[in-house]
Amino acid sequence: MATGKINVSVENIFPLIKKFLYSDHEIFLRELISNATDATLKLKHLTSIGEAKVEYGNPMIEVKVDKDKKRIHIIDQGIGMTEEEVKKYINEVAFSGAEEFLDKYKDAGKDAGIIGHFGLGFYSAFMVAEKVEIITKSHKDEPAVHWSCDGSPEFSIEPSDKKERGTEIILHIAEDSTEFLEDAKIRELLVKYNKFMPIPIKFGTKTETLPKPEGAKEDDPAPTQEVDDIINNPNPAWTKQPNDLSDEEYKNFYRELYPMQFEEPLFHIHLNVDYPFNLTGILYFPKLTNDLNIQKDKIQLYQNQVFVTDNVEGIVPEFLTMLKGVIDSPDIPLNVSRSYLQADGAVKKISSYITRKVADKLTSLFKNNREDFEQKWNDIKVVIEYGMLSEDKFFEKADKFALYPSVDGDFYTFEELEAKIKDNQTDKDDKLVVLYASDKEAQHSYIEAAKTKGYEVLLLDSPIVPHLMQKLETSKENLSFVRVDADHVDNLIKKEDTAISKLSEEEKEKLKTEIEEVTKDKGYTIQMEAMESSASPFIITEPEFMRRMKEMQQTGGGGMFGMGNMPDMYNLIINTNHELVSEILNTKTAKKRQRLINQSLDLARLSKGLLKGEELTNFIARSYDMIK
Ligand code: ADP
Ligand code: MG
Repeated sequence: MATGKINVSVENIFPLIKKFLYSDHEIFLRELISNATDATLKLKHLTSIGEAKVEYGNPMIEVKVDKDKKRIHIIDQGIGMTEEEVKKYINEVAFSGAEEFLDKYKDAGKDAGIIGHFGLGFYSAFMVAEKVEIITKSHKDEPAVHWSCDGSPEFSIEPSDKKERGTEIILHIAEDSTEFLEDAKIRELLVKYNKFMPIPIKFGTKTETLPKPEGAKEDDPAPTQEVDDIINNPNPAWTKQPNDLSDEEYKNFYRELYPMQFEEPLFHIHLNVDYPFNLTGILYFPKLTNDLNIQKDKIQLYQNQVFVTDNVEGIVPEFLTMLKGVIDSPDIPLNVSRSYLQADGAVKKISSYITRKVADKLTSLFKNNREDFEQKWNDIKVVIEYGMLSEDKFFEKADKFALYPSVDGDFYTFEELEAKIKDNQTDKDDKLVVLYASDKEAQHSYIEAAKTKGYEVLLLDSPIVPHLMQKLETSKENLSFVRVDADHVDNLIKKEDTAISKLSEEEKEKLKTEIEEVTKDKGYTIQMEAMESSASPFIITEPEFMRRMKEMQQTGGGGMFGMGNMPDMYNLIINTNHELVSEILNTKTAKKRQRLINQSLDLARLSKGLLKGEELTNFIARSYDMIK
């Protein structure tokens, strides 16, 4: 038996490694299986070009847990290593790689995010093992070797009688890592990291039910057999060509990725580039849902079919992180911090490529099947609206397909909307006024009032819509969005004509003072307006500017500081041309007048959904009193 000393400057590198990657211990399994996969793929390549004169066959990788002996075995049928190669690749290359890794990231700390995902390779075995053995036989006609190392820089190497080609790694699990001796834990890790790796991975066996033989009786048990339990799908959909995949197969892959997800995706985007960077993947637009389990399903990042992370922050543009699916790229540097990642040229290109592909897909869906696109709009609008807000390039493209639904369920692009409303909804200052509602039920009376004027009312109800309106108003000229309850209908779109008031200035003043007096605790700003006599006598409105600023602040940024906590501001508009208003004015007793004012105010509040609790109870009692 030969022994030797690994050439590292740090006396004992292993405790260091352990400490460093504390939270990431579990990656040892992924690293060792990656090596086994690499060794198998290398052999495949060598046999295919005639360099290796062995039968490639149908190799698999096997993982075994021996709980009694506290060992994990990882066995492959790949190229294997000769003694020379073990000395070179394990003692020198792997060790120096580990040392370099430590040097580089000693100061980076744990918050560096992606650090620790890759780069430690074979070495990560020592995070969980107190001793590691390698028994390997090269595909070349050379004797097998047995290498072993207990975590100090000392190692031993001796001949082995292993007959089959390939490598077996034996981990002697350390006392503090015995959780990895549980089958369930290993299975969980295999499924997490290795589910789509290109070489079949066997972990134990499973019982398979066979079809009953002909002539079997009703209650005869179906025959079963024990078969290898292969935990991975070596040919996941994203590695195939889009032309070779049916819609059904895309959906099946979605289910494979997210087994707990029962909603079907709305559509998919197949990513496939090899220049100037290499990237494949499939992204899915999910159906909107509040199910927390489903929100946990995120885009997964792979490198050559090895799972890396489901935190794709910095790689996928933020507005697309709501999507699901997979991206696989060897060109994303992983041993770096997030901030470095975001500054990386290749990553920036990848991010804008993804944005462009998503925009192109949406454009073609819109052009090719408008009806279907309209049907899906509700589920996809948040992503699109958010994208329009956050990425100018996306805004330019999305401006052509973003839809603005009306309260009656018609969908317009901005251009179509503009053409439709510009005659009737341009105000005296030549501004195009787009009217919208955020809640069809609550704003019903205001919507009706606008419709009688022939106005088109949109239904814009996403939480980020106030921000988007702000963006549209600044990027397009002469445009303003106004919610239907922002003012009384005649003021929503100010045109030249001013209606004549039935009441004199004096009467208006008198009535206004009285109403102010009666409603003074409620904080309304009273406005006397001459409107059509058919319009409601009392109307409560919420001025657009203040309301929108408040909403923007509640949904993050954009608004004025501190406005999110301000009380709501309401105007109370009195239609001086309504019969009831004249009647109030002409009522002799003050008590009766106050009753009429209170009752009318409550009706206006009711119509705005503001009358609740005790006040509503009182209102109902008072109304019965009045009609009895
Ligand atoms: P990397 O995989 O990035 O090269 P590792 O530290 O994981 O770094 O492995 C170091 C080297 O050891 C590999 O490049 C390979 O030459 C060799 N090696 C590791 N595991 C195996 C294996 N199962 N079969 C053959 N060679 C292996
Ligand atoms: Mg490796």
